[in-house]
Amino acid sequence: MNSPLAFIMPDWSAPSNVCSVVTVRRGGKSLGPFAGFNLATHVGDDAQNVVANRKLLINELQLQQEPVWLDQMHGNRVVEAGSQLLPKADGIFTTQSKHPVAILVADCVPILLCDKEGTRIGAVHAGWKGLAGGVINSLVKKLGYSRELIAWLGPAIGPCHYEVGSDVIDAFGFDSGLAVKKVKKSKWKMDMWEIARHQLKQVHVNEIYGGGVCTYCRGEDFFSYRRDGVTGRNAVIIWLN
Ligand SMILES: [Zn+2]
Repeated sequence: MNSPLAFIMPDWSAPSNVCSVVTVRRGGKSLGPFAGFNLATHVGDDAQNVVANRKLLINELQLQQEPVWLDQMHGNRVVEAGSQLLPKADGIFTTQSKHPVAILVADCVPILLCDKEGTRIGAVHAGWKGLAGGVINSLVKKLGYSRELIAWLGPAIGPCHYEVGSDVIDAFGFDSGLAVKKVKKSKWKMDMWEIARHQLKQVHVNEIYGGGVCTYCRGEDFFSYRRDGVTGRNAVIIWLN
């Protein structure tokens, strides 16, 4: 028996024509460590189940087209939707309603952006490497530094569970908003939402919502790579209506 799909609606002040959802694990066809609504093809799940899950997603959200999925690299490259199939990138943007865009996550921070007019939208996948590498800046640059943008930070591994070593700390340059608390020798707890907020403000995105929902804590709703290793991915989808 499959339970029905469920979605979390981002709580932000996006214009009414900007639609966005976060998927949760309930429902879907995937089994074992990928149960149930895994949307990633690169994690070892049965490809047919992922294809079936993606069809369920499109039907349930009544999307005009399949979302543009990314081949995420933990880098800072941002592409325009429609420019290529499965681009190697960690950020994507569009001005067109025919291109829903998607980010896959299991602990990294999904970040949504749109302008206040509802004419352009974008999303990034930001783990510590992406944050240290400036992926947020890359997307804001593409959307336009002069535009009034609002942002939403999705579920990610929180400072309650995200312990990192000095290699991670060292990757962050001066004024990159590094938000950590030392917990023991050479170990820190990192707050990626706080880093994201700092970096958004640096590029004058001051209206920021979300953050605070930990994927590691909420196993019934979210996949977590740090918690489970072999696991699926939740998706965050944004599109223009
Ligand atoms: Zn946690």
